[in-house]
Amino acid sequence: MLKGKTALVTGSTSGIGLGIAKALAAQGANIVLNGFGDVEGPKAEVAALGVQVSYHGADMSKPAEIEAMIEHAKATFGGVDILVNNAGIQHVARIESFPVERWDAVIAINLSSAFHATRLALPHMQANNWGRIINVASVHGLVGSAEKSAYVAAKHGVVGLTKVTALENATSGVTCNAICPGWVLTPLVQKQVDAKAAAQGISNADATRQLLGEKEPSMQFTTPEELGALAVFFCSTAANNVRGVAWNMDGGWAAQ
Ligand code: NAD
Repeated sequence: MLKGKTALVTGSTSGIGLGIAKALAAQGANIVLNGFGDVEGPKAEVAALGVQVSYHGADMSKPAEIEAMIEHAKATFGGVDILVNNAGIQHVARIESFPVERWDAVIAINLSSAFHATRLALPHMQANNWGRIINVASVHGLVGSAEKSAYVAAKHGVVGLTKVTALENATSGVTCNAICPGWVLTPLVQKQVDAKAAAQGISNADATRQLLGEKEPSMQFTTPEELGALAVFFCSTAANNVRGVAWNMDGGWAAQ
């Protein structure tokens, strides 16, 4: 379905981003990966799906590096047809003790990076009258949780940016939508499980049950594969007129 298209997925060396990159690759899209840590493993996993894969190590908190990454995608594949703004970090603390430097980092990586990648990728999509921008927000783009001020503010911002991007391109073939996952067991959430287990002196399994029980009625994690399937739907012709939605996959979290 996506043969001949190029997808750039930010923060795709791990977790949800890698899951979405693989789902798009399985539909034939060439992939530009981005993110920190092991690169060769994720590259091999995507290449095994029979598509071309490239990598750019832009730090998503740095606009000049984001610009270099979009230029790299242009030079390698001719441009970005599908942009998945996924890179993100978390920091958990009450507002009065929230480190200012962590606030700035969360806003830069989770929100401003999506603005920069979007503004730089849009002209190519507009010229072709086809494009898909998928913003990985969070259920925290729809509701709040204590001790996550920067994350919740950034993700609500991402949902707002999604609506404006969709509206500004509404009469064209360029769509923009957001995905709002509940808990997904990636390194980002494993850290929160570990912190809970350590703070309460409980087992990892008990901490996991507690984490799910507090927020997610299904008592199940959403998987990167399920989120990848939703991203593929947003790229399909069936989704031509799906514009500016924030679609949660959260086990009922936001339905409460
Ligand atoms: P993860 O930690 O597994 O992956 C994050 C990715 O972003 C990694 O590839 C990492 O290298 C990359 N990254 C981090 N900082 C970066 C930077 N400055 N520049 C470039 N890349 C950077 O996390 P994840 O759970 O897969 O999260 C992916 C996205 O999904 C995030 O935006 C997160 O907020 C969102 N999300 C996650 C959950 C969850 O439960 N895991 C729920 C809702 C939303």
